[in-house]
Amino acid sequence: MSVIAEDCVSRISEVVPASGATLHEPVFGGNEKKYLAECIDSGFVSSVGEFVTRFESDLATYVGAQYAIAVASGTVGLQLALVASGVKPGQEVLVPALSFVATANAVSHAGAIAHFVDVAEDSWGLDPFALRSHLEEVGQSEGGKLLNKNTGREIVAVLPMHTFGHPVDMPGVLDVAAEFGLIVIEDAAESLGSLLGETHTGLFGSVGMFSFNGNKTITTGGGGALVTHDEGLARKLKHLSTTAKVPHRWSFDHDDIGFNFRMPNINAALGVAQLEQLPGFVANQRSLVSTYRQVFALSDYGVVKEERRGTTSNYWLQAFLLAQSHSSERDVILELAHDAGIAVRPLWNPLNELEPYRGNPSAFTPVAKDLWSRVICLPSSASLIPTDIH
Ligand SMILES: *Cc1c(COP(=O)(O)O)cnc(C)c1O
Repeated sequence: MSVIAEDCVSRISEVVPASGATLHEPVFGGNEKKYLAECIDSGFVSSVGEFVTRFESDLATYVGAQYAIAVASGTVGLQLALVASGVKPGQEVLVPALSFVATANAVSHAGAIAHFVDVAEDSWGLDPFALRSHLEEVGQSEGGKLLNKNTGREIVAVLPMHTFGHPVDMPGVLDVAAEFGLIVIEDAAESLGSLLGETHTGLFGSVGMFSFNGNKTITTGGGGALVTHDEGLARKLKHLSTTAKVPHRWSFDHDDIGFNFRMPNINAALGVAQLEQLPGFVANQRSLVSTYRQVFALSDYGVVKEERRGTTSNYWLQAFLLAQSHSSERDVILELAHDAGIAVRPLWNPLNELEPYRGNPSAFTPVAKDLWSRVICLPSSASLIPTDIH
């Protein structure tokens, strides 16, 4: 048996209950039942109601956005953001090779083509330097458009994602985007509560998306939201998310091919209660990392992932990075931990290696591949009270 793997799992065991641990489960410790009951009693459980409006307004206030639009999931939110931003079928959108599959799927659902680029070693998100050098290599300016020399298609947007809540170097990405004329849409699914300087993630691009799936920092059961400072775009996002119906007391007039992507009021009721607890959840995660840091102190085979200087991470998912010389231990650790009832995970398989995306355009992505080979995601539920070391 591997000494390192045994040591690693025994250290994780100090943080989680003896009965084992899931990766990330929700905590309902506030007004959830009260608001759900109020919502049911009101009769408004679907796409109209006061909780949706309240959730949008509370969320916008929390992140500092002018507008928030609640939607049925993070994935459809991204799809809607792409469509409303003018991304057309057949155009290419730059996506980090390291992300959850939903990032690329949203691009595909919008009819566009995900074009993969590498991530940075420090942020684990889109690398602006790799992005620039890749565009200098494959990009060709023609009649005000940026074409991919290899495919002949237009490259129109870039979709950075803040891995595990750690903010991407957005000023760097914005510079490259301005230079090449790209739209910037942020997949901030994992980064509610994460800031770059004083600015909340999701507010650097023209629009940002948060997810409220059951495993995220706060949950609405299923759901997502888009944030923007752009009034025209906000109106378009909301209009397209609600079948593009022209407001009228009785007439069914629709001026575009809209979607049924609105977040139901009953989900928003849960969201309002969860949002009230968000500062506490984030504080918990931020102290959980010191617990893991303490537990892994003096281990010579890896390090706990920490936030970059100048950023505040919500530490949505805690992670341990094995030293390159010990990457072969990853699967042994996963196996041993699962035997002990601890649901640790590797990183997502790189998107450019997945069956549906193997044929897509891609830069060389060695950092994504390297991180994939040696990251272990640690139990990160808000219920793991950081002081509870046994
Ligand atoms: C969770 C997640 C999504 C999708 O959100 P859903 O609400 O589950 O559709 C998209 N991108 C990333 C990076 C995610 O982690």
